[in-house]
This record gives sequence, C-alpha cells and structure tokens, in this order.
Amino acid sequence: MAQVQRMSRLMIKTLRDDPADAETASHKLLVRAGYVRRTAAGIWTWLPLGKKVLENVSRVIREEMDAIGAQEVLLPALLPKEPYEATGRWEEYGDQLFRLQDRKGADYLLGPTHEEIFTLMVKDQCTSYKDLPVMLYQIQTKYRDEARPRSGVLRGREFQMKDSYSFDTTDEGLEESYRLHREAYQKIFQRLGLDYRIVSAVSGAMGGSASEEFLAPAAAGEDTFVDCPACDYAANTEAVTVKVEPSDASGVGALEELDTPDTPTIETLAEHLGVPASATLKNLLVKVDGEIVAVGVPGDREVDLGKLGEHLAPATVELVTAEDFTGRDDLVRGYVGPQGLAGKSFKYLADPRVAPGTAWITGANKDGKHARNVVAGRDFEVDQYLDVVVVEPGDPCPSCGAGLRIDRAIEIGHIFQLGRKYADAFQLDVLGQNGKPARVTMGSYGIGVSRAVAALAEQTFDESGLCWPREIAPADVHVVAAGKAKQTELALEVGDKLGAAGLRVLVDDRAGVSPGVKFTDAELLGIPKILVAGRRAAEGVVELKDRRTGEREELTVEEAVARLSA
Ligand code: ATP
Ligand code: MG
Repeated sequence: MAQVQRMSRLMIKTLRDDPADAETASHKLLVRAGYVRRTAAGIWTWLPLGKKVLENVSRVIREEMDAIGAQEVLLPALLPKEPYEATGRWEEYGDQLFRLQDRKGADYLLGPTHEEIFTLMVKDQCTSYKDLPVMLYQIQTKYRDEARPRSGVLRGREFQMKDSYSFDTTDEGLEESYRLHREAYQKIFQRLGLDYRIVSAVSGAMGGSASEEFLAPAAAGEDTFVDCPACDYAANTEAVTVKVEPSDASGVGALEELDTPDTPTIETLAEHLGVPASATLKNLLVKVDGEIVAVGVPGDREVDLGKLGEHLAPATVELVTAEDFTGRDDLVRGYVGPQGLAGKSFKYLADPRVAPGTAWITGANKDGKHARNVVAGRDFEVDQYLDVVVVEPGDPCPSCGAGLRIDRAIEIGHIFQLGRKYADAFQLDVLGQNGKPARVTMGSYGIGVSRAVAALAEQTFDESGLCWPREIAPADVHVVAAGKAKQTELALEVGDKLGAAGLRVLVDDRAGVSPGVKFTDAELLGIPKILVAGRRAAEGVVELKDRRTGEREELTVEEAVARLSA
C-alpha cells in the first residue's frame, strides 16, 4: 500500500501572492505551493511536499548511477583546508568559498565540490590496478557563496548536488567512464521529463580537457547557448566557429585613400561615407602579455574579449590605453588599418569573415583618412584567424549553415574529463600491471539536484501553477473532497482504494475550506491527476481531471481506480 496523505494533517500553507523578491516562475510557484521556504539569502528549507520531489529526483539519479556501476558514498561537507591548498583552490575559489575556523583556529571550508577529498579517499583505498576502474558518487549538500543568490533554489548558496568521480589507469578507461556517465545523464534527464541539450563547454576553473554541459532551455536560465533550428547542433555561445571562406577579389580596384575628417569611430565613418558598418573593417588594439596586437573584425561585430582571452590563454589580454600610443608614430589612433602594418607593427589576428579576397574600408594610418578596396591577402596578411566575435542570432550554423538561434538555459549537469591534474597534485598512483606505479586519470561529473527541481518547474508550469511529470510529482493523484461529509467520506474511500492499488495519493479532506479554494490549490500544487468527489458523490461518481491537458471525465469509483492504476 502506497502512501495516502491527508491534507488536513499535512504541514502546508499555500499563498495567493508571489513572494516580493521572486523573479522567476519556479521561485514564485515553489514558495506559493508550499514546497520550499526561504531561511536566508540563497538558503532554503524543503517542506514536506518539496522534500518528496527532491527525493524523487534523487532516486532517479541514484538508480541510473547504480546502473552504470557507480558506488554511493557520503563525504563530509565540512572540510580541512590543506587538500584545497595543495591544488590551489583554497585561493582560486575567491569569495565563492565559505571558509571558517574551529576552536583551535584551524582553517576549514564548506565544500563547493569534492575532487580533492575523493582523490585522497581513493589514494587511501585503492593501491593496485586491480582496484580500478572505480566510479564513486554522492548526493550531498554543497556550499558556494554566490554573488547573486536569486531565483530561489535555482541558484542557492547551499544546494544539493550529485557529484561523481571516475578513476582509471588509462586514457581509454577515462573515455569509457565519461561515456558511461554521459549516457546515464541522458537517461536521468529523460526520466525526469526535462527538455535538455548537450553542449560542449570550456572547462574553466576545473582544469582538464573534454567537458560538456547539459542545458535545460528555459527563459529563467542564466546561460545562453546557440541552437540550430534546422539540425541538432547546439553549443555554448563561446564554442561557435565560423569557416574561413576565401572570395575572388580580381574585380576589386586598387586601394584608394579617402578624406574622412572626424571619423574615428565606425558609426561616424559609416555615416560619413553612407555605407553599412559591415563594409568597414574594425581593428581593435589589445595588449597580449604587454605586446600590441590588432584584432580585425567586420565593423558591425563586437569582439568578445572573454573568447579572445581563452584563445590566447595563458597570455593575458588587456585593452590598450592612450599611453600605449606614445612613441608609436605608426599607430594613428582611430585610423589604424592593417595594410603596411600587419605582421610588422603588430601581429594581426582576424575573424574568419575577414577571409582572403574580401575587400574593406578601413583606417589609412593617417589622421582623418581611411582607405577603401583594402583586400585581405592582397593589401595585408592575416597572421592568425580566430573566432572572437560575439555570436548573434542568424549567424550560420557551423554544421548545416542555417541561421542560429540564441536561447537561454539552465545548466543542470556538467561532465569533465579532468585527466591527471588532481592525481598529480596528490601523487595518486596505483601499482601497474608491469609492477611499476601508474598515475591515475580522473573524471568529475555533477548534477544540480535541487536546481533540477526548479528547472522542471520552469519547463512545466502554466498559468494555474506547477505541473509535475508523474515520475517526480509528490503524489500520483490529488483527491479533492468538494463538499461536506458525503464528499469527504467518498474522497477518503477512493484515496484508500488508490493507495491499495499502489498509487501515491494526497487527499484534500480539509474541513471548512471551500471547493473553490481546494481546486485552486490542486492546480497550484501540480500533481498530475486530480480526482474530485463532488456533486455526484452520493451515486459513487467522481470526476477525473488531467492537470496538464485539463481534460475531464466522470467515472464510477471503480472505473477511476482501474484507470489510474493502469
Ligand atoms: P553555474 O555556472 O550555474 O554557477 P557551475 O558551472 O559553477 O554552475 P558546476 O561546478 O559545474 O557548476 O556544478 C555542477 C552542477 O551543480 C551544475 O551543473 C549545476 O546544475 C549545479 N549548481 C552549481 N551551482 C549551483 C548553485 N549555486 N545552486 C544550485 N545548483 C548549482
Ligand atoms: Mg558547470
């Protein structure tokens, strides 16, 4: 017999108004429906119904992690400083890290993620290649002092994460562990009923090489990604590439200087000449490790300095200032062009759109003058092509050429091939097959468990409230007693029958609450099926309503039980 919960005994207080500070639908609805309660900024209490949803999400994750042979463990959240100092993350995490001291003045932290501690655990527990590969996971509370904890449980300062780690002796082994996780994640998100995309990502502070993110498209998302409407291409906006496609410049006339007084910006120039900004070539000067470098992009495009920095890392990239022009008579501020200077005065990097054979209007390297018919590959050479412009809607899909869309999404999972970074930091070796020590290679894999609850709410809510997929709903059926004693009696009877048939049931048996309020609450709570004992209760007839489609039909109690348990 599955659980039959009576609403009269359930600790729940639903609210008609949105909380004042709430911006996103999941935040508003999870609070209003009594699933979560704010304790402090970014710190949440899970109330009875919310806890059920959280547990359902955890159960699905557990089942799929167990299915790939991962073993569950539970590590502490309160951690000593030393391992995080050994990897540099005690410092690198900056203000995100919650640091604290014990009574003796020793430093501790509240774990934001556990690579260090898992590595040390495996170093202690596994000594031979025979002990590997091993995949370990936990569902545990994480702490990050987020700068802007908003959007409810979407971005908490304390939150639930499933984090797993794989340990292998070979690169092929790591690839296999990564593949197993990727497939398990696909099953998990599919079972949860989440719409998601897998995009390649840059691995950032974690270090390592291959890394992919699982994104749930939603208006409330803080991530943007590009999505092709014509094929299955999807990527982090940072990862979009453009092909260098040379064009034929044989018909373009000779380079010609133009008088363009007071036109130091692309806007003033385009207006003065009556040409679109896209016909001009913008040359952004930056300092790469202190050396001046020019970056050429079409005049209507913006340079993404973050992308540029990633391409050139570990070199540092800064914008030039007025002082950088002193003593540089070759560089005329506002009128720089690559012709005559590229490869001499500066290294010239360009967007692939500045392909060989394309002709441009650009600075003439003289005050108040520009030049036209400046052809790439004829009048100047590009030292290196790089994808550095900010991606815009309509840019071509690298895979099929159709116009890309830019959409918002919530990052619900992230998988990394870490390689040997952490194993090196802690000399994690096992005895190899050949009798020599073998350095272990690692992967790390996260799912935001509490965030997944909010992401699901975001993707499924409607104007009446939450609307859970069955697998993670707090109950299968919400039985409403819409009336007096007769209706309540029937509602409880049906509830018991449904429970006996193995269904999880919530019965709204509250006395003194009007049917209208009960219906509104049932919609708000979002349990997938609503069964009403109302007008025809005396005849043993109930109304079954689908929360999502709104479809309703009248059935006898027996029919309703048979239908719902089918
Ligand atoms: P974000 O970019 O959203 O801050 P992240 O890339 O820092 O996330 P990871 O370190 O990859 O996050 O953590 C693994 C997963 O944990 C994320 O994919 C996300 O689902 C979840 N997560 C991360 N930060 C939070 C948070 N503050 N609140 C809730 N879930 C989070
Ligand atoms: Mg991430």
